[in-house]
This record gives sequence, structure tokens and C-alpha cells, in this order.
Amino acid sequence: MPGADKKLIMNEKAEVFFSDHEEKIEEDFENPYFRPEIDRGALRKILLESLQPTTVVWNSHFISMEKENEGWLLHFKNSPSVYADIVIACDGANSKIRPYITDIKPFYSGITMLEGNIYDAEKKAPNIHKLLSGGKIMAFGNNKDILMGQKANREIGFYASFKADERWATNNGLNYNDKTEMLNWFRTSYPEWSHIWDELFENTTVPFIPRPIYCMPLDQHWKALSNLTMLGDAAHVMPPFAGEGVNMAMLDALELSDCLTSEKYTNLLEAISAYETTMRKRASVIAKESLDNGELMHSENALENMLSLFSNHSTLDKT
Ligand SMILES: Cc1cc2nc3c(=O)[nH]c(=O)nc-3n(C[C@H](O)[C@H](O)[C@H](O)COP(=O)(O)OP(=O)(O)OC[C@H]3O[C@@H](n4cnc5c(N)ncnc54)[C@H](O)[C@@H]3O)c2cc1C
Repeated sequence: MPGADKKLIMNEKAEVFFSDHEEKIEEDFENPYFRPEIDRGALRKILLESLQPTTVVWNSHFISMEKENEGWLLHFKNSPSVYADIVIACDGANSKIRPYITDIKPFYSGITMLEGNIYDAEKKAPNIHKLLSGGKIMAFGNNKDILMGQKANREIGFYASFKADERWATNNGLNYNDKTEMLNWFRTSYPEWSHIWDELFENTTVPFIPRPIYCMPLDQHWKALSNLTMLGDAAHVMPPFAGEGVNMAMLDALELSDCLTSEKYTNLLEAISAYETTMRKRASVIAKESLDNGELMHSENALENMLSLFSNHSTLDKT
């Protein structure tokens, strides 16, 4: 989505403190601060279309598995059991397979994000749509944030992001299907924020989705197995404040496939062990960055923090 990486940094009154909308952003994939955007749906389509049509067996809800011979017998809710020589868990943050590898659990980051999506945003939320101008907005005020971005099909996705108790999502008594109630919550919880932002809450396609943000311990370790491993959020869920979750998951998949097909390793245990050692080390550095960014973005000086971060991260073509 060319242009979707352009950003505005604002305060709670929607005053702009940083904009790269007028600048030419250098498209340089070697530059670590070049942040090209892709919509989830488009990426999913590209990945699926790169596979043989029968590779993905849809509607297979994994329930449990047990050891059988050298491999595993997997049981599903709605389809017959299947034997596999090797299982690669990529079933996300609440992985049902991860416990077969380790007991280590994610910890709550202290931050909850409340997600809303607005379809046909140009018509439904014209003022926000104009402000966003096809890019991203990060707004900071009084320890709270609003983060949003242009998505495909004229959709806007946004998050109200704030520090909250781990059980906030279930204990707050809010009806996530009731836009008026959610707008009232916003007005009460973000009292200093301009009415410009109300348009988001008035036009969200309900339900709103609360997302308590979790992270795997940075020093996690487990004993490698010869017939079972994991990748992506199943292995290292982390807060989204470095925007690296999908990059990490894809790099895991690439590195794991390299290890499994490399002649460097004499057996599967060695190959999986090498993959996991590198993966844990890499993911832990990025998870730390994500946690640190989360703190910076939800602190009293969030606006100043982010202005200083982005002035150091420029990809603008100065030539
Ligand atoms: C609020 C928020 C915002 C984010 N923003 C960004 C961002 O801007 N950029 C970014 O890179 N990352 C972002 N992330 C992180 C990103 O979403 C994840 O890192 C990424 O989706 C991980 O991919 P995955 O394939 O490991 O897991 P998932 O994308 O969670 O995929 C897991 C898959 O497993 C399936 N599954 C689960 N359980 C079972 C079961 N029992 N049986 C069968 N299938 C099952 C699920 O249906 C799903 O298809 C964000 C995360 C959150 C919470």
C-alpha cells in the first residue's frame, strides 16, 4: 500500500507535531527504517497463492495430539485425526500446541488496545478520513493514545490504547456492540481529547474488540525436540509497538525451512535446535524494543518521546 506508511504525530487536540506527508520517502528495502505497509488480507492472499491448492486443509480445528511412533497423532474438532512426522505450531498467541513444547506462558504488558474498524470511511468518517490522508495517525495525550491507519477497501482501522488492569476487557461492563455506550466511555476516559476523535467511535462497525497485550518472557528457553517446533506468535507473542510481529513470523518460517533443508545438520533435532536458538535470540531483541516502545508511547511524555524517536528514524530522501 504505497503511501500508507506516511504518518502524522498529533496531540489530543489533533494538532500536528510531525508530518512526512509532503516529503519524498525513499523506497529502500535495505534501510531498517523504511516501513512499507501491506494489508493483512493482501499478504494472506499472496502467501496462499504461492502454495499448491491442496496444501492448506481448511476447517481443521486442532484439539490435542499424542505421541505415535517417531511423530504425532493430531486430533481435530471437526475432521479425522492425522499422523505427522513433524509438527510446526503456527497457531498464534493462544497456541494449543505450544504447551507440548514448554510450560512458559506470556505475561500481560499492562496495556490494552480497544480496536475499531470503519468501512467506507470516506463517507462515514469524512473528517478523520481527510486527516488520515491514506497514511497513519499516532495521537498522544495524558498517558493515552489513539493509533490508526488506512487499510485496503477504503477501511480505517484504529485503536484506543491505554494502560489498564489485565481484566479490564471483561470487567468493565461495557457493551462492545453499543456505539453510544462506547462513545460515552471514550468521552469519560479520554476527557481532554478533542471531539474530532468522536467520529471514530460513532462510525465503527461494531463490535469493538478489546485486545489485552501480552508478551513472552524475553529469556525464555526450552529443550528442542526432534519432531515439534513453533514459529510466529505461538513462539514469541509481543506487543505490536514496534510493528514487527508479522515480519518476525515470516522470518521464522524462512529460517526454519532453511534449517530443515540444509545439509549442514545431520538430523532434525540439530536443525530444529539451531533454528530455535537463533529465533529466540532475534525475537527477544525485538520484543524488548516493543515493550520499551509501549512504555514510551503510554507515558506522560509520550508525544515528546515519539517526536524524538521519529526524528532519529528518518527515511526521507534528502538528496
Ligand atoms: C492490536 C494488534 C495490532 C498489531 N499490529 C501489527 C502490525 O501493525 N504489524 C505487524 O507486523 N504485526 C502486528 N501485530 C502482530 C501480528 O498480528 C502477529 O504478530 C501475527 O499475526 C503473528 O502471526 P502468526 O501467524 O504467528 O499468528 P496468527 O496471525 O495469530 O495466526 C494464527 C492462525 O492459527 C489459527 N489457529 C489458532 N488456533 C487454532 C487451532 N486450535 N486449530 C487450528 N488453527 C488455529 C488461527 O485461526 C490463525 O489463522 C498486531 C497485533 C495486535 C494484537
